[in-house]
Amino acid sequence: MDLLIYIKRFLKDILYFIYPPVCMLCSRSLEENEKLICFDCESDLDSMPFALCPFCEGIVLPDQNHCAAGHSEKLDIEFIRPFGTYTEGMRQLIHSLKYDRKLSVAEILGVKLSEMIKREFHFKGFDAYIPTPLHKTKKRSRGYNQSDVIANVLSRETNIPVLRKVLVRKRFTTTQTALNKEERAQNVKGAFEVDDKSLVAGRNFILVDDVYTTGATLREMARVLKEAGAGRIAAVTLAKPGLDKTKEQNININAKEN
Ligand SMILES: [Zn+2]
Ligand SMILES: [Zn+2]
Repeated sequence: MDLLIYIKRFLKDILYFIYPPVCMLCSRSLEENEKLICFDCESDLDSMPFALCPFCEGIVLPDQNHCAAGHSEKLDIEFIRPFGTYTEGMRQLIHSLKYDRKLSVAEILGVKLSEMIKREFHFKGFDAYIPTPLHKTKKRSRGYNQSDVIANVLSRETNIPVLRKVLVRKRFTTTQTALNKEERAQNVKGAFEVDDKSLVAGRNFILVDDVYTTGATLREMARVLKEAGAGRIAAVTLAKPGLDKTKEQNININAKEN
């Protein structure tokens, strides 16, 4: 057995020598304690200090479940917590997770997101993660659901289970990329259904998606879950594109003051 470990290590060293791993983002050779991206690129990833209100995109403090205007009262999702802003590096990482099978991206960013979940008080009391389901046609062509992969990492790191298959994507929706906020909401309307209401009733869920653009998909998932009797609902994503610069600055200023 020891010999096997020795041989494995030896082969790994040879591989490392022939094909030294390079940073996915800047192509610099990686040190042995760097994984996938170098420390410089990692520190360029711009983590967000706060969760956002799905209605007004205002700040939701870590010990609260609504924005300063108190919007969560009339919303199905209390808050959405992206790990970071949509920098060029983040865009490349998420793209390679979704389209190039780089599942290790979910590992690296998922661990960072887990640290936020463990640190912030408003994540106390949730029962399970629900990854955004892919339509089965899409899942078949991609081979995996990236939200599922992220949810697995979160589950392992935070000891909260993942509830799969309870929410089903019953309708194939066209890609949302070119649509505005209203069109996106229209596009996902009626796309999901709850398979087994007994698994949902009275339980609190954290929805998991790769990006939070307008929140239309997450809001529709939450609406259907609430209709089936779910309790509290929040959401986490890897990144939030489309924050306007003034808002980003406000968030940063507020972060410094707190
Ligand atoms: Zn780099
Ligand atoms: Zn709000």
